[in-house]
Amino acid sequence: MNKVYLKRKISPRVVNGHPWIFNNEVDKIDGEVQGGDIVEVFTYDKKFVGKGYINPKSQILVRLLTRNKGEEINEKFFFDQIAKCWDYRKKLGYTENCRLVFGEADSLPQLIIDKFNDYFVIQTLALGIDIWKPAIVKALNEIFQPKGIYERNDVPVRELEGLPQQKGFLSAPFDTKIVISENGLQFYVDIENGQKTGYFLDQQDNRRAIQHIVKGADVLGAFTYTGTFEIHAACYGAKSVLGLDISANAVDQANKNAELNGVSDKCRFETANAFDVLKQWGKEGRQYDVVMLDPPAFTKSRETIQKAITGYKEINLRGMKLVKPGGFLVTSSCTNLVNPELFLQIIDMAAKDVRRKIRQVTFQTQAGDHPVIRGMDNTEYLKFLIIQVQ
Ligand code: SAH
Repeated sequence: MNKVYLKRKISPRVVNGHPWIFNNEVDKIDGEVQGGDIVEVFTYDKKFVGKGYINPKSQILVRLLTRNKGEEINEKFFFDQIAKCWDYRKKLGYTENCRLVFGEADSLPQLIIDKFNDYFVIQTLALGIDIWKPAIVKALNEIFQPKGIYERNDVPVRELEGLPQQKGFLSAPFDTKIVISENGLQFYVDIENGQKTGYFLDQQDNRRAIQHIVKGADVLGAFTYTGTFEIHAACYGAKSVLGLDISANAVDQANKNAELNGVSDKCRFETANAFDVLKQWGKEGRQYDVVMLDPPAFTKSRETIQKAITGYKEINLRGMKLVKPGGFLVTSSCTNLVNPELFLQIIDMAAKDVRRKIRQVTFQTQAGDHPVIRGMDNTEYLKFLIIQVQ
C-alpha cells in the first residue's frame, strides 16, 4: 500500500482527530498513487496516523477512514460502519427518517445518506468515497432491504474532485415522490427534484420547539421550502399561517403539504422574495405574533463571509420589525461559516438597529442524527434560535 508522510510540523488538527490532510501538509508520497487509492499516512518520523483515500486532484489530498492499522478498507468495512451508524440512530430514537450517515461526523468522509422510511438518498461528494458506492449500496440492501435507493450527486462540490454531477436510481426505479411522517404530520418529499436530498431532516427536532408559542397566533414564515415549519404551526393551533418562498415549485409542494395535513384553510403559501416583501410589509406596519425565518447559507466561502453577515442581519432586522411587542422570532442559520457566537451577535445588532429588546427563549443546533464532532467546525452548522421581541 502506498504511504504518505506528513511534514515534521503537521498541524495538531490531524493528530487530534481531524480526518482531512491538505496538500501542503504532506512531505512525500512513496509509490505511484491514483485518485481514489487507499493510502497509509505516517508522521515524518514514521508513526502510523491512519488509512484513508487520496485524490491528487483535490486540495484535501487525503481523508482518513480509520486510525486503526489492522483495519482493512473493503466491503466489510463499509458494511460495519453503516451498521454502526444505524445502531447510533436507533439508540437516539431516529428510526423512521434520519440522516443515517453524516460524513466526517460518522468517520465516513463526504458520504451522506438520508433515510426516508424505506427509501434512501445517497451523496458521495469525493472521488475516494464515490468509488465505494457499490459496497455502500450493497450494505444498505443487506441491512435495510429498502424499497428504493437514489443518488443525488447533482452537487457542484463534486467538480473539485474531478467528478461529474449526476443523479439517478441505485435500485430498481420507483416513484420518487414519497410521503414521510414527522412529529405525527405528513410531508411529500421529492427525492428526485427537491433541494439537496429532498428534505431538511436537520430541523426535525427544532420544528417541535415552536409548539407552544404558535397557539392562537398569526404566523408568518419565510424561506419555507415545502412548508414544514408552517404546517407544524398550523397543526399546533396557530390562527393563521402564511409561508413565503422564492421557488414556485417549493410553494406548490408546500400548498400540497397543507392539504395533506388538512390545514389548507388556515395555512397558505405564496411565491415571493422574502427580502422585498418583509421590507414592504414592515413599512406598511403589518404585525404578526410569530415570524419564522430559515434562509439559505448566503455564502459558501470564508472569503465572502461578510455577505452572509449582512444577509442574516438584514433579514432578521426585517423579521423583527414585523413581530408584535411580546411576540416571537424563530430564526435559523445553516452555514458553519457563521458560528453560534457570531450568529447571536448578528441578532443583537439587528435588535439594536430596530430598537427592540429581545429575550432568548431557545438556542439549539441540528438534530442528533447529525452529530457534532467537537473541534471539527464544519460538523456544527445549524443555529436555531427563538427570541421574544419586546
Ligand atoms: N424551512 C425549510 C428549509 C428552507 S431552505 C424546511 O424546514 O424545510 C431555504 C429556502 O429559502 C429554499 O426553499 C429557497 O428556495 C428559499 N429562498 C432562497 N432565497 C429566498 C428569498 N430571497 N426569498 C424567499 N425564499 C428564498
